[in-house]
This record gives sequence, structure tokens and C-alpha cells, in this order.
Amino acid sequence: MLVDSFNRVIDYIRVSVTSRCNFRCIYCMPNTPFEWDPKENILSYEEMFEFLKLAIDEGVKKIRLTGGEPLLRKDLDKFVKMLYDYKPSLDLALTTNGYYLKEYAKKLKEAGLKRVNISLDSLRPEIAAKIAQKDVLEKVLEGIDEAIKVGLKVKLNTVVMKGINDDEILDLLEYAKKKGVIIRFIEFMENERAYPGIKRVESSEILKKISKKYKFTELPKDNSASKYFKMEDGYVFGIIEPHNEDFCKSCNRIRLTAEGYLIPCLFFTESYSIKEAIRKKDIKKAAEILRDVVKNKPEKNDWQEDKISDRAFWETGG
Ligand code: SAM
Ligand code: SF4
Repeated sequence: MLVDSFNRVIDYIRVSVTSRCNFRCIYCMPNTPFEWDPKENILSYEEMFEFLKLAIDEGVKKIRLTGGEPLLRKDLDKFVKMLYDYKPSLDLALTTNGYYLKEYAKKLKEAGLKRVNISLDSLRPEIAAKIAQKDVLEKVLEGIDEAIKVGLKVKLNTVVMKGINDDEILDLLEYAKKKGVIIRFIEFMENERAYPGIKRVESSEILKKISKKYKFTELPKDNSASKYFKMEDGYVFGIIEPHNEDFCKSCNRIRLTAEGYLIPCLFFTESYSIKEAIRKKDIKKAAEILRDVVKNKPEKNDWQEDKISDRAFWETGG
């Protein structure tokens, strides 16, 4: 079992399979040029699998594939199948912008994927295009429908930004409710790459807007990053508030980047490469690095007013 210095059990790895993306979201990578690391710098699926087997053997129960946009990496379903075959009980999930989901949802489900989180920031085509800097809405909505249709458990993620999409909170909530899927509103996390001037909407403001129309109660906190709320008719929605004092108390995750860096916390720049150990097939060394990362996981992130993370979300997988 992997336990950090603050007694948190680490049983969840988020794996960024590529830093590339076909969107240029204003809160994530608005200005990133299309020049990327050479392919040899990226871990192959086989190399990632070697490491993940080790992590699974050490007690990891949940793996989320993310990016960049994970569906840009070829043969993702084959990677899902490798993980599923190694441990069918693994909680295998994906986070995607949804653009290619119509094409891949069925294949991924058949390969063993259980859950998918899809980013949906607006239901208005022009606002979705302003946020992603590309005309995306129609394809994303088709992707959501396909994921539901093939039987994946779907959640929607919305980054709420003042003056951009905060007037759509109720519309998005009602869309998700109608589709029978959970939506989670995420507080924008300040970072150096985002467009300057984006203002986050505090979780309290989001809840206030919802409470003008609906009554709801907070559910007991589990160890996910979200707080969940139940409406009178039983519909559940969530809020992710990384700026909250309690956010890190139940953190159970570490991250692996496509280049082979293990990252103990999204906010901090510390990272430890497992690439050399894995390429030399030195599993003992890789296990040592994994334990060091867990041991050095900080107690708290540092997302606070006036402090901007220099970590890029598309490398770490958000
Ligand atoms: N491309 C995929 C997507 O957009 O879902 C997966 C990668 S993306 C980096 C993972 C998550 O991070 C998305 O839900 C995205 O909305 C969120 N994210 C990215 N930048 C963020 C920021 N500055 N603040 C809050 N959430 C952010
Ligand atoms: Fe791409 Fe996801 Fe970042 Fe948007 S949030 S730019 S879709 S990686």
C-alpha cells in the first residue's frame, strides 16, 4: 500500500498520455504553439504499462487517462485493454474534451473503460468557440450522447469564469440533469499559461446562483476532489474548489506525464522521472522513485489569491 507522510492512502494515478491538444482553451493553453516533444521523449504504452503494473501491485485501484487531449493519441483503446486485462476490477476512467468521443466511445467501452469525464463549458456555440478557440460545441454534444448511449458512466466538467460562462450555470445544470449525468462546476485555477484577466467564480457564488431556483443539501464528503449536492428530486451535482482549505485533506492521487515524470501535486513543479528506470527495465529503481514521490507529496496545494502556478495543465492532465 502507498501511504504518504500525512497518512493519506495513494490509490489513484492520473496518466497524461499526450500533451497535445486540438483545443486551445483560454484557461489552459491559449497560446501554446504546435511544436511538441519528439516522439522518442514520450513513453510508449508498453513503458507506461510496465510502470502502472508496478503501481497497481502497490495498491493503485484507479487510473484516469487524460492529457492534453487523450483521444489524439493513437490506439488508446488498446492501452485501455492492456490495463483492463491486467486487472479487470481497476476503476478505469478517461477525461476528454469530447471532440472525438463519437468515434471512439464504443471501442473504449468494449476495451474496458468504465467512466468518462467530458469538459463542457458552454451550451452556446459562440461561447464554446470563444473558450476553446475553435468551433467545437456540436461535436462535443454528439460525443456526450454517444458516451451515454454505449453505457459509459458520464460526468461533465465546467470551468466557471466570470463574465464568460457564469450566466450559464443553471442551463448547464439542467442540460446535465436532463441527460441523467452529474455535472461538476470547477473553480478556475490561476496559472501562468491562462489568458490574463480570467476571473474565477467562487464556489459560494456558484451555489448561490443554483439556490435561486433549486433547493439542495450537501452530501457527506468522499475522497474525490468534488463536493456533491443533492437536489430535492434526487439529482446530484458537484463543485470542485481547489482554493478551499479542506481540498487536499483527502487527496489520494499522483500524476504521470507522457514524458515519464511522476508528479506528487498539481500545484508544485517538483517531478521525478521514471523514464530511465523503465527503459533500463530497472523495476526496483522505478519502485523506489514511486515510493519517494508518495513520501514527498506535499500536505497542501497553494492555490490562493495572488499566487499563480507555473505548472501547465496540459502536461499534468489537470
Ligand atoms: N483535454 C481534456 C479535457 O479538457 O477534458 C483533458 C485534459 S484537461 C487539462 C483536464 C481538466 O482540467 C479539464 O476538465 C479542464 O477543464 C481542466 N482545467 C484545465 N485548465 C484549468 C484551469 N486553469 N482551471 C481549472 N480547471 C482546468
Ligand atoms: Fe485541451 Fe483540455 Fe486544455 Fe482544453 S482543457 S486546451 S481541451 S487539454
